[in-house]
Amino acid sequence: MKLRVLGCYGGNIPGHGMTAFLVNDAISLDAGWVSGALSLKEQVRVKDILISHSHLDHTCSLPFLIDNNFSAPGFALRIYAIPEVIASMKNHLFNNHTWPDFTCLPNDLTPVLKLVEIAPEEPFEINGLTIRAVHVSHIVPTTGFILEDRKGAIAFSSDTGPTERFWEVVNTVKRLRAVITETSFPNELQELANVSGHMTPGTLEIELRKLKTDVPVYLYGGKPKHLEKIKRQIRGLKDDRLKMFVQGRTYRF
Ligand SMILES: [Zn+2]
Repeated sequence: MKLRVLGCYGGNIPGHGMTAFLVNDAISLDAGWVSGALSLKEQVRVKDILISHSHLDHTCSLPFLIDNNFSAPGFALRIYAIPEVIASMKNHLFNNHTWPDFTCLPNDLTPVLKLVEIAPEEPFEINGLTIRAVHVSHIVPTTGFILEDRKGAIAFSSDTGPTERFWEVVNTVKRLRAVITETSFPNELQELANVSGHMTPGTLEIELRKLKTDVPVYLYGGKPKHLEKIKRQIRGLKDDRLKMFVQGRTYRF
């Protein structure tokens, strides 16, 4: 499985895009920085997007991705998410106020956008990948995703504080190649991390005791203002599994 990091930060400053990972050139895992990272030619190839939750740092490039490619021949996008997240996108994003409702444009029969509801932990297939959404613990309804092909699997927690079910499911995944999880704030902002459903390096250290498979753990989601401190504290954990994602880099699992 090929994964290109389009953006891996919990905020946006020059050179720092928000959470979006391009899988096998055609599926985007969250969409915080798709139109900001891909050329128009690359954007047309993105057909399917998995959305973990409604927060803007995971969704904000969707309106522009669709707008950029609206008239491109054959362009159509399917967005997969749990019903609560789909409802939020209908009500607050594609609501004809914030942005046009592309689920009925150019017409109801052949819309450029389809919002597809998925059920937690029920596998579905896209382009040879088997995908499962698993609930995590954030301040809005959120799922991580487990993506599997014939060679292996990766598990993406999305934004979460301490959580249980995600790790239970991850521990049952065969041929797990990597875990992707978040560290948004430094330890000094533990209180803020707690109330906003995020992790610090301190939370992460405790959380990773729940992971029973010895695989690399890639980190995303750092708030740009606190990145250097977060990196220093992650190094301080002296855990060889931990790696910070690098924006623009392609990983193979
Ligand atoms: Zn969030």
